[in-house]
Amino acid sequence: MAAGRILTGMRPTGPLHLGHYVGALENWLRLQREYECFFLIADYQAFGDHLDEIDRIRRSVFDVTLDWLAVGLDPEASAFVVQGYVPEHAELTLYFSMLTPKSWLDRNPTLKAEIAQIESEHDTISMGFYNYPLSQAADILLPKADLVPVGEDQEPHIELTREIARRFNRAYGETFPEPKSLMGRVPRLLGLDGQAKMSKSLDNAIYLSDDAKTVQRKVRRMVTDITGTHPRMQATDPGVVEYNPVFNYHDAFNPNADEVADLKERYERGTVSDGEVKDKLVDALNTFLDPIRERRAQYEAHPDQVAQILEAGSERERKIARETIGEVREKMRLTYTPDALTAPVGKRK
Ligand code: ATP
Ligand code: MG
Repeated sequence: MAAGRILTGMRPTGPLHLGHYVGALENWLRLQREYECFFLIADYQAFGDHLDEIDRIRRSVFDVTLDWLAVGLDPEASAFVVQGYVPEHAELTLYFSMLTPKSWLDRNPTLKAEIAQIESEHDTISMGFYNYPLSQAADILLPKADLVPVGEDQEPHIELTREIARRFNRAYGETFPEPKSLMGRVPRLLGLDGQAKMSKSLDNAIYLSDDAKTVQRKVRRMVTDITGTHPRMQATDPGVVEYNPVFNYHDAFNPNADEVADLKERYERGTVSDGEVKDKLVDALNTFLDPIRERRAQYEAHPDQVAQILEAGSERERKIARETIGEVREKMRLTYTPDALTAPVGKRK
């Protein structure tokens, strides 16, 4: 018997990066044998800010799937679902958008930060983008998931999902569980540029599919001081470990704890160059990524198989989705039987 049900996912906005691994995928890998898992590729959600880039979204649906397979997620054990293949996701989003006060979205800190970022680049966001936390709540509640393993930026959305579940249950009777979130080992991996989050959209990421040379080039260009106030000009300058994201990555990906401790100590004393600290990180990252690259290449050679995995996984979720939507429609009384003609008119119940 499974310990419960998981729904979690990714947006098909590009290939996956190291932040996805430590923030989410590592937990998915651990939990895929214990829980009944639905891993969602949220294409509707990607339309919210990439509608004019359908080719990129289509390519990214494949990239995300390849990355999942490459890290070792098992499509036999878990369902890989394409959101748009199960339109019940859209239907539940619609009902939730009627049920949810706008103020609940206005105060969501992750949404606020993302809107500010988009508005600094383009003029405006779409209604679909504004609504995406609700679509995410619908994604999670459609299969009645108990647990949602995600990175830290998603926590406000999971809280919103619990609020919506409570509101629906109060209005229409007990229907949805209140899912818990589960943070990864590194809840938020910094960007190569020192920004607070490595992100596909910010172009500050090392991708799981980057080759060894690209990893080297990116690490060599990494900022070494997120404050910008402790410039270290030469190897003999004492450095501050906590300001240097290179050490952040060593902590996350270098399994040789003695080497990391030694580098940190020498860095603080001013007896190691930034170049050496970075070269050791390049080695650690490439050792970590090598088997992932290899498995990815194997699946990439078989696109038919990948497409089939998405079909089959979506089909598995669709059965459950239909049941939930049937229950929701009944509870919301969206059933127009003849007795509706003669029933007394009141509010809600
Ligand atoms: P986009 O910029 O298009 O939104 P993203 O990089 O934020 O892309 P998502 O698909 O939105 O990726 O997020 C997928 C999952 O990965 C979420 O659980 C999110 O919390 C997690 N995640 C993304 N970036 C990081 C990061 N830098 N550190 C830890 N977890 C992360
Ligand atoms: Mg995101």
